[in-house]
Amino acid sequence: MCGIVGYIGSREAYPIIIEGLKRLEYRGYDSAGIALFDGKDLKIAKTKGKVSDLEACVEKETSKTGNVGMGHTRWATHGVPNDVNSHPHASNSGDLAIIHNGIIENYDALKKELTSRGYTFKSDTDTEVLINLIEDVKKKENVKLGKAVQIALNQVIGAYAIAVYDKNKPEEVVIARLGSPLAVGIGEDEFFIASDASPFIEYTKNAIYLEDEEMAIIRLGKAIKIRKIKDDSLVDPYIQELQINLEQIEKGGYDHFMLKEIHEQPRAIRDTYRGRLLRDEAIIKMAGVEDNMKKFLNADRIIIVACGTSWHAGLVAEYIFEEFARIPVEVEYASEFRYRNPIITEKDVLIAISQSGETADTLAAIKLAKSKGAFVFGVCNVVGSSIARETHAGAYTHAGPEIGVASTKAFTTQITVLTLIALRLARAKGTMSSSDFRLHLHELELIPQKVEQLLQVDQHVKEIAKEYLLSTNCLYLGRGYNFPVALEGALKLKEISYIHAEGYPAAEMKHGPIALIDDRMPVIVIAPSKGHYEKVVSNIQEIKSRKGKIIAVVTEGDTAVRDIADHVIEIPDSEEAFSPLLTTIPLQLLSYHIAVMRNCNVDQPRNLAKSVTVE
Ligand code: GLU
Repeated sequence: MCGIVGYIGSREAYPIIIEGLKRLEYRGYDSAGIALFDGKDLKIAKTKGKVSDLEACVEKETSKTGNVGMGHTRWATHGVPNDVNSHPHASNSGDLAIIHNGIIENYDALKKELTSRGYTFKSDTDTEVLINLIEDVKKKENVKLGKAVQIALNQVIGAYAIAVYDKNKPEEVVIARLGSPLAVGIGEDEFFIASDASPFIEYTKNAIYLEDEEMAIIRLGKAIKIRKIKDDSLVDPYIQELQINLEQIEKGGYDHFMLKEIHEQPRAIRDTYRGRLLRDEAIIKMAGVEDNMKKFLNADRIIIVACGTSWHAGLVAEYIFEEFARIPVEVEYASEFRYRNPIITEKDVLIAISQSGETADTLAAIKLAKSKGAFVFGVCNVVGSSIARETHAGAYTHAGPEIGVASTKAFTTQITVLTLIALRLARAKGTMSSSDFRLHLHELELIPQKVEQLLQVDQHVKEIAKEYLLSTNCLYLGRGYNFPVALEGALKLKEISYIHAEGYPAAEMKHGPIALIDDRMPVIVIAPSKGHYEKVVSNIQEIKSRKGKIIAVVTEGDTAVRDIADHVIEIPDSEEAFSPLLTTIPLQLLSYHIAVMRNCNVDQPRNLAKSVTVE
């Protein structure tokens, strides 16, 4: 996830690109770079940090002139954020340059192949591999840039939005997309390229949004040519007239970042298992786990430390690890763990979860565990963050930047990473049969499309939200894998709508919370058909007998709960262990709509911060 901007025309490219990059910073940034063609050469400047750091860097190191150029704000997926890993990346000859948003899954194999043929690499990125692959094809096949890009992309597995320049053909740029967005602004004798239309909205209202598996050759003075990457067939360009403003564009047309991020979950989950879950080969490939397999297999137990939503993801993981890999798991609040003088030995594996990778309490817990000799594994979203650096090994979630303070896609992608680890360990330990393993890979791969389908309940959830926006309390109940989802649902509601809410294991209700139930108490019950379904149905009966209002999350086709509940929200059927990835979605939507109807600041709720760097 990053921002890309390109310009080709007769204006000075520099101010357009810099201003455009600033508008795209909401897409995440850890570094920025620019390439400008000054009439003779392609000048690249890049640096770790924000676009303002890039401006300072250009000021010092290179010129700002040129009518052709491209810029990038990086949100690292491969290689830490530093100057060298920043984009644009040049090919070995220095002729070609690329900016890229996405992940090249098979970059490792391609890199080995290119290395064996004499290519060298300055950065750790997947992107530098791609530009050299393009160069290699161009030379070997003796083809033009467009063709070389096309042939190379047909060898690539992954996701990308790219722009590629050849300094010997400065009037031309080749772009392509698969899985990451790319828009082209069409002016009079000029073209703009960007991740969304925000960088060019004041220059032109005419835009083409490239579709997946399409590429385009953009030449000054010529009409844009769009082709299918796979079969080279020509596509009629569809030019649309933009009618949205800057703020709407940044939020992808959604009213809030939180809603946008909720809707991004199918993509985010897919990006998380991309290149790791290889269903055809029936394997899970995660370097951080593979390289430390002995540590995991010899572990007496796994201790998961985290805070807030990440702690809930840890609780889901506890169920999954114990079920799949039969390793005892303890889940701890980082803040309690670090101050408790916990018993930690060299045979413990500690998994630390944090979206930002900067959570102060989690960082302190890591340091404590390391000092006692435990092996520490990090699960975070931000590449190169403090937790990523402090841990012995880890796995990134690849959710893309999360801007809404209330975590949504971070939660589902954390569960996805932890599930992949548990499945890998289950195979290594032999606690899951190979047929079960295959089944689980298949089922996990289906989750994004089920989330996609599930997101269509949005309007229905909004209708339900209308009835409860004046509630002052709310109870969330779930069992087994969905007990942590109840906690997470309650947390979401508290965080953004300021309604008091509590999550409970459904069976615990009779030990206390049942006293709270009356006809004004909404109770959200997570009751998918697998697991302890009958028991949950009995709990629902108990609530009904006390006149509580029941909003039930059920598997599609359910009739028993429908007869008793006031509202039902259906989710697609899935493996029980993967149901949290589905059941959590309507709960996110419910809190979102209630908060909006209560006029709360959804993206920046009072008293909360995105990255909690204080203890
Ligand atoms: N995978 C590329 C990198 O890590 C691009 C990441 C992005 O989309 O910003 O450099």
